[in-house]
Amino acid sequence: MIHQTPSRKSFSAAILDWYGSHARRLPWRSLPGEQPDPYHVWLSEIMLQQTTVATVGPYFRKFLESWPSITDMAEAPLDDILTAWAGLGYYARARNLHKCAIAVAREHNGVFPDNMAGLRALPGIGPYTAAAISAIAFGKAETVVDGNIERIISRLYRIRTSLPAAKKEITEFAAKLTPIEQPGDYAQALMDIGAGICLPRNPNCSVCPVSFYCAAFAAGDMENYPVKAPKKIKPTRRAVIFWLQRPDGHVLMRRRAEKGMLGGMMEFPSTDWADEALETKAAVEHLLQGQPSNLLNDISVRKQVRHTFTHFHLELQPVAAQLTSPEKLELDGAVWIDPDEFGSYALPTLMTKVVKAVLESR
Ligand code: SF4
Repeated sequence: MIHQTPSRKSFSAAILDWYGSHARRLPWRSLPGEQPDPYHVWLSEIMLQQTTVATVGPYFRKFLESWPSITDMAEAPLDDILTAWAGLGYYARARNLHKCAIAVAREHNGVFPDNMAGLRALPGIGPYTAAAISAIAFGKAETVVDGNIERIISRLYRIRTSLPAAKKEITEFAAKLTPIEQPGDYAQALMDIGAGICLPRNPNCSVCPVSFYCAAFAAGDMENYPVKAPKKIKPTRRAVIFWLQRPDGHVLMRRRAEKGMLGGMMEFPSTDWADEALETKAAVEHLLQGQPSNLLNDISVRKQVRHTFTHFHLELQPVAAQLTSPEKLELDGAVWIDPDEFGSYALPTLMTKVVKAVLESR
């Protein structure tokens, strides 16, 4: 099958024409041709990193109800943001969200900068997010390349370099097609085509508005693109995690360090996440740090929890125990929480899994 090399004019015209009648209605979007609120665009773009559109929808609405403007968000305590974010994962995003809101409120009078340099200088805004805000909220002809757009471009040109090395090449091709007019609608149209038509498996090329320009479609090998480097096998880390209860039923938690994984979130104390978990007895000794073992009563092993992070799997073995003299347990940053109050704390998904496993396997 013959295909035509796309030109900026003809390609973007086909994309924008399609978008006029097929744009997805999303809570953060304005209608084609209209400029949305930069605050909404920024919030949605941060939430959509690593998270699906379906999951983000209710969170986006909840955030806007709680903090209708960026100044409202800047004035909110970080804990409230983290609590509202719980379940979205990748909590560094929530901390940066708050930092960014404060920076925009204090340094820019609550108005987002409308240029790439100003946006890039804000916390949590990388090149992709800056380009997306710039194009969608301010109508600047920036080249926006997310995972969906990467797939479309690599198929259009049958790019043989594998990802992630191909990113530069893909962005260069994408830049040649980005229009001056309606760059925001154009970017969102490509996102929609990637999400609904140019799927990783079984792309629906028969309804694609740019199949005429697609080299992979012409060759019939669409699913070969983008070429991916062989996947690395994820290692598994293991640890024992403690559910320690006082006589009044309160459970011991502590706050993780601000920096690093799940930074600033609440957790149950655990042994280090390592290749091998300690045996229960050794883990208890490690927890007690030389204090008498009769500090803990009714020790029981509960249902194992498995969780997958971007770079590794984690297996946690919950061990529950009653504390006879809670004041004797010396643990930095310990907080005693009534299990009925867990909802008021920013518990990451991993810890809600631990709660469920412990309560279900009593
Ligand atoms: S023709 Fe098929 S493979 Fe090519 S961009 Fe369209 S949906 Fe993707």
